[in-house]
Amino acid sequence: MSADCIFCKIVTGTIPSTQIYADDDVVVFKDINPLAPVHFLIVPREHIESLASCDASHQALLGKMLLLAPKLAKEQGLAGFRTMINTGREGGQEVFHIHVHVFGGGTTLPKT
Ligand code: AMP
Ligand code: ZN
Repeated sequence: MSADCIFCKIVTGTIPSTQIYADDDVVVFKDINPLAPVHFLIVPREHIESLASCDASHQALLGKMLLLAPKLAKEQGLAGFRTMINTGREGGQEVFHIHVHVFGGGTTLPKT
């Protein structure tokens, strides 16, 4: 938990979100500024800054996050989807709590 982190606040419920899934490790909620008809974020409860700060101890968690993408995409009615993990400021990351974007449902999908 990081005091200034918006996703930590969402994970603990201090800030509201439109949640579509939660378990002991992960919370999944709709992006507040969707770039596609369906756009959600897969977020671990643990505060991890980015993919670049992960190590072997995060292997199972990262695998779990990725495997949730097709499961939840299907539940959201998507036949296909795009995933994105922005890493570091140069990688377009704005919220420094690792998250997997899942986009779908449009005729064109965002590339950034
Ligand atoms: P990134 O650039 O990969 O760090 O993406 C951060 C994403 O978090 C952006 O797509 C934002 O729209 C989204 N976001 C920021 N604040 C919130 C919030 N309070 N609830 C849901 N999504 C958010
Ligand atoms: Zn955090």
